[in-house]
Amino acid sequence: MSKRDYYEVLGVSQDATNDEIKKAYRKLARQYHPDANKDDQNAAEKFKEVSEAYSVLSDSEKRESYDRFGHAATDGQFNGFGGFGGFGGTDFGGGGINDIFDMFFGGSGRQRRGPEQGADLRVDVELTFEDAAFGLEKDIKVPRTEECSTCGGSGAAPGTSKKNCDQCRGSGQMQYAQSTPFGRIVQTRTCDRCRGTGTIIEKPCSTCRGAGRVRRTRSIKVKIPAGVDNGARLRLASEGEPGIRGGPRGDLFVFIHVQPHSIFKRDGNHVVVDAEINMAQAAMGDEIMVPTIDGEAKLRVPEGTQSGTILRMRGKGIPDVRGYGRGDQYVQVRVLTPTRLTDKQRELLEEFALIEGQKSQGDDKGFFKKVRDAFMG
Ligand SMILES: [Zn+2]
Ligand SMILES: [Zn+2]
Repeated sequence: MSKRDYYEVLGVSQDATNDEIKKAYRKLARQYHPDANKDDQNAAEKFKEVSEAYSVLSDSEKRESYDRFGHAATDGQFNGFGGFGGFGGTDFGGGGINDIFDMFFGGSGRQRRGPEQGADLRVDVELTFEDAAFGLEKDIKVPRTEECSTCGGSGAAPGTSKKNCDQCRGSGQMQYAQSTPFGRIVQTRTCDRCRGTGTIIEKPCSTCRGAGRVRRTRSIKVKIPAGVDNGARLRLASEGEPGIRGGPRGDLFVFIHVQPHSIFKRDGNHVVVDAEINMAQAAMGDEIMVPTIDGEAKLRVPEGTQSGTILRMRGKGIPDVRGYGRGDQYVQVRVLTPTRLTDKQRELLEEFALIEGQKSQGDDKGFFKKVRDAFMG
């Protein structure tokens, strides 16, 4: 089967700019994408053809070699390229079209690579309920890669320096010429002596063994804002691993874990707490002291409060992490029914039951009567 010209496949001219090529590819890739053309073998073939054309024309080195040698220049490369065999277009699975764009625009197969951002780091921090509520400044230990201070990151022992690699003459790449029936093909590979760095360290630094970097646990001061909740994630820009080839550092992510509290529960910015009162307090009302995250505070229990009633203490909750005021505290009231009565209490309750009985004549199923029955057996 004779292959169509890559420029023809993408419908662009021989002197098309990278942008024109990218645009043409995006349009065609969407048109023929397997997700949009289920069971259409023709579209699958087209998609494969378009992807292949793009992978060559979008890479300046491959494009140059294609311009000079035609398909012969690239056919051999695809086998070593990995991935292309899988581009039949049928087994894309869950990957959408964006994955394909990432693959291409991420620079797969490119020989020369530019600076890259360092990896992000994650560190987990456990906070008490109160620390999460009010925030704090915390020193956290982060093991990460640092420039070696002995050699200043060069990897060469102090007083010595790196030398240009004599195998690749400092370029980091080796050109291999290959004769084929179509002519000579030049392929580029990473230099194996210097591993593509272009330099050789003759006397490696003893601290980092020539790596120029060391693992070190650093202490970083982190300001944890008031109101953070369990599962919150703080991002500290540029505190991650150092970049590659001069790229910026990655970020550090601090994952917050809040320990449960023995009496307070949290619901968003609200605090929920239980309080117990006795029958008399429930019936007649009272002022009680309840714990809050700021310490004990007075709470007015209205008369006739039932067990299970929830009373609100405005503004006694957790500060909002974005600074929008404070939540409330909800006090769930439990009325304690006495299990053992003193003679005096019993006397009073009997008296109370009697009054209740007179109020609702003939109603011997009244609550307190039942209670009395239960008590007296
Ligand atoms: Zn060193
Ligand atoms: Zn080299």
